[in-house]
Amino acid sequence: MSENEIKLGLIGHSISLSLSPAIHGAFFRASGKTGRYDLFDCPAGDLIPLLERLLRPSDLSIDGFNVTIPHKIAVLDYLRSHGAQISDEAKLAGAVNTVVASPLSGHNTDIVGLKNSIADLRESKNVTRPLQHGLLIGTGGAARAAVIALSQCGVKKIVVCARTGEKSQQFCRAMNMQARDNGLALPLLMPSALPQAGASFEVDFKNIDIVINATSIGHADNDAPEWLDRLMQELEASCGAEKNLKLVQDLVYAKGDAPTVFCAAATSHGLLNGDGKAMLVHQARAAFQLWTTVWPSYQSGLEAFEQTLKNRARAEN
Ligand code: NAP
Repeated sequence: MSENEIKLGLIGHSISLSLSPAIHGAFFRASGKTGRYDLFDCPAGDLIPLLERLLRPSDLSIDGFNVTIPHKIAVLDYLRSHGAQISDEAKLAGAVNTVVASPLSGHNTDIVGLKNSIADLRESKNVTRPLQHGLLIGTGGAARAAVIALSQCGVKKIVVCARTGEKSQQFCRAMNMQARDNGLALPLLMPSALPQAGASFEVDFKNIDIVINATSIGHADNDAPEWLDRLMQELEASCGAEKNLKLVQDLVYAKGDAPTVFCAAATSHGLLNGDGKAMLVHQARAAFQLWTTVWPSYQSGLEAFEQTLKNRARAEN
């Protein structure tokens, strides 16, 4: 191990298939820096000892790391109790996905990742319609980042849909409280519930410019829920002649040639859509810059992402 080697990694649970080592490996090669990006699989109960080992100068002595499910909130709490600097975005999201070891600080690059992904999608599809109203599905950690990213894209009002109205109300209350406590502004958040079988969405689709999937639908063996086709039908019907100007942004990324469940449903209704691949690469770029000051190219991360998935598919066949 060389003295100048930059030591990075990812803390999470069940992360053996993470694409982050490949993406950051490509960033190291493209930037001419020497470094490594290791996976630290860690169940919830083992988090604090791992953080102590990683951050103690004489031990594993890491330069920085990413954080994923289930540790994004717990790491924020740890950083707060250790006097770390926390970015406004991480405070608002109530979650950290990137830690810089020295000086100790916590960030949330999922937000800029999603913001840049939406910008790419708009540009690639030549969408000039301003984004004013959003529909956000899901109320987990990624949904929090999505609210802030949408706000940074100029969205003024977001309808938030969860499996129950109570869940979306709780989410909106928590986000508003977080914003108030930190003196920051958010778009107007309107809680709503995903419809039961046969029922309709209680959403005025005419005004919706962008739909975000921040659920885990489309990952693993999840099937398309009953309401998904109805959602796309209603969105399509609301478009009129402007069908190609509304956007569907999935946070889940396709793991092979087949599109995600959400993107497939959007395509079948002629709606413009993109999956979570661009967000993953953009959030990694922002993290790499925080650790090394180098702003790596999107293309190098994207190629590593695609090549790794291809290699895995080949190995499986
Ligand atoms: P999370 O905290 O576990 O939240 C998952 C959300 O999905 C919850 O609101 C959950 O609702 C909802 N959900 C799951 N199945 C559902 C279904 N059948 N119908 C309706 N809602 C359902 O996870 P997260 O961290 O927010 O991540 C969400 C997704 O975003 C994951 O797939 C993750 O991989 C992806 N993500 C991608 C990136 C990227 O860079 N592309 C970054 C971050 C996250 P309940 O509370 O009712 O269960």
